[in-house]
Amino acid sequence: MIRSGILILALLMTTTNNGQNYQERREEMVKTQLQGRDITDHETLKAMRKVKRHEFVPKKVQHLAYTDGPLPIGYAQTISQPYIVAYMTQQLKPKPHHRVLEIGTGSGYQAAVLAEIVDTVYTIEIVEPLGLRAKETLTRLGYKNVITKIGDGYKGWPEEAPFDAIIVTAGINEVPPPLFDQLAEGGKLIIPVGTRFNMKLILYTKINGKIRHKEKLAVSFVPFTRGDKF
Ligand code: SAH
Repeated sequence: MIRSGILILALLMTTTNNGQNYQERREEMVKTQLQGRDITDHETLKAMRKVKRHEFVPKKVQHLAYTDGPLPIGYAQTISQPYIVAYMTQQLKPKPHHRVLEIGTGSGYQAAVLAEIVDTVYTIEIVEPLGLRAKETLTRLGYKNVITKIGDGYKGWPEEAPFDAIIVTAGINEVPPPLFDQLAEGGKLIIPVGTRFNMKLILYTKINGKIRHKEKLAVSFVPFTRGDKF
């Protein structure tokens, strides 16, 4: 009886410690990987401090959740490096009333970070099991303002357009034209353009109906794919 009590106590302590550890590791991640670089936007930092990245990665890499790199999430896909998630978020200048479209749900982590800041996130994933798992994770963690869909994001989400911001998290040679159409006036679109090892984040802005663009960071993202199914 006493022994099992001790065992339960020990288990409880491990759980609590892990919880604390994760929070500490998240703080450290924000300090060194984000503030230590060029992430200054208050809302972005707050969201990155809050969202439990370890809940979005497979168990076997959970201990690496707050390290400075991408991680495998199955189906040959990855969750982006925390810095890239924060960088893209900051570039979009998200506001509380914004409605945002994400192409490439993956683990659901980027969607959760945006959901901490904006009104609603619409997110599309082409790999069905990933989309379903992300939906489950987001629901479990209480993100009611993320709407998920399985499909080919090339076409965007016309029924919900226009969007104040659009984020594409898979690399492609050229911007899918429907995404420009679905961008609201003043809206921003960030997307990795190029081939896998020669890719740049491009930030597009719609001003007076015209699209302007600025080249940003060199990056490496998994490829944007097209499905016949959709
Ligand atoms: N934002 C994700 C990282 C995604 S990796 C996260 O936070 O975890 C890129 C994702 O884009 C992959 O899951 C891939 O399956 C998806 N993808 C690739 N092409 C797509 C398309 N045409 N439509 C929707 N999703 C796509």
